[in-house]
Amino acid sequence: MLQQQQQAQIAHNIAVIRERMAGAARRANRSVDDVTLIAVTKTHTAEVVSAALAAGVSDCGENRLQEADAKIAALRTRPVRWHLIGHLQRNKAKRAVALFDLVHSLDSVRLAEALSRHMAEETGPQQAPRRRLPVLLQVNVSGEATKEGFALVGGLANQTLLPDFYQAVEQIVALPHLVVQGLMTVAPYSNDPEAARPTFRLLRQLRDELASRFPVASWHHLSMGMTGDFEVAIEEGATLIRVGRAIFGERT
Ligand SMILES: *Cc1c(COP(=O)(O)O)cnc(C)c1O
Repeated sequence: MLQQQQQAQIAHNIAVIRERMAGAARRANRSVDDVTLIAVTKTHTAEVVSAALAAGVSDCGENRLQEADAKIAALRTRPVRWHLIGHLQRNKAKRAVALFDLVHSLDSVRLAEALSRHMAEETGPQQAPRRRLPVLLQVNVSGEATKEGFALVGGLANQTLLPDFYQAVEQIVALPHLVVQGLMTVAPYSNDPEAARPTFRLLRQLRDELASRFPVASWHHLSMGMTGDFEVAIEEGATLIRVGRAIFGERT
């Protein structure tokens, strides 16, 4: 059993985050119901995750497949939506398809093809309704925070890389067993939440352009904002925020 005190702390932290989410949504004239809190559970045990679920969390994010695998198995009777938020190697695509409800970190056409192929196999012998795996395209619009994601520093202003990116998007939205639902990004690390605003704005502008160019996909989601900057992200249109430390404390 988790210490009662730790459980209470997690519940309190989540309540505080929900208040802050509501405040940010209000400032942006948005409904807080359009923003989902994803509890980032990496490095934490299934027991700790359970405490977050007891406090009303419905969505959890993991960035490494192997760690997630055991945790998801331990919590398989619980109604959790699992999000993959870290880089995925192609040789692990099959396992990822079996484990996750939404992949945020799609960052290449080849990975998209592998996921779509494995999703087709997931359909099973009954030829039941053909399933599609929901995915977000991870885009690196800031150029510094991470080398992960499609490289598109500056977003729409990047005339050099934009054509390649559009070509990749065209190929990905055509895959039969994926459904593209939006974009994800990680802002550069900073102590100042405002420093992330330009990155979030670039992602939203890119999303708006993709929505008009590729109306075959929904482009509804913007996965952006973490412990240090989720309020700014909500102000800039985030629909999915990925929060770890503000819920569970510092990772060791
Ligand atoms: C770890 C991680 C988070 C959560 O970060 P915190 O600062 O703990 O809120 C969010 N997104 C990604 C991609 C991560 O790897």
